[in-house]
Amino acid sequence: MRRVSRPIRCPRCNGAMVYERFQDMLDLFYAWRCLNCGEIVDPVVVMNRGQEKKPKKRAMG
Ligand SMILES: [Zn+2]
Repeated sequence: MRRVSRPIRCPRCNGAMVYERFQDMLDLFYAWRCLNCGEIVDPVVVMNRGQEKKPKKRAMG
């Protein structure tokens, strides 16, 4: 896995975040946790946010 060079900031409070391991049911995953407010940001979500969703043009008929 490649390291993220840019520092991750909390989307809520802009605080410092740490990359931690979490366990959800049976799944083990890594996510960013805010040291300030405890916000958990999934890296996948962050990636999705970076991409602008363009509305698909539907062909008529
Ligand atoms: Zn925060």
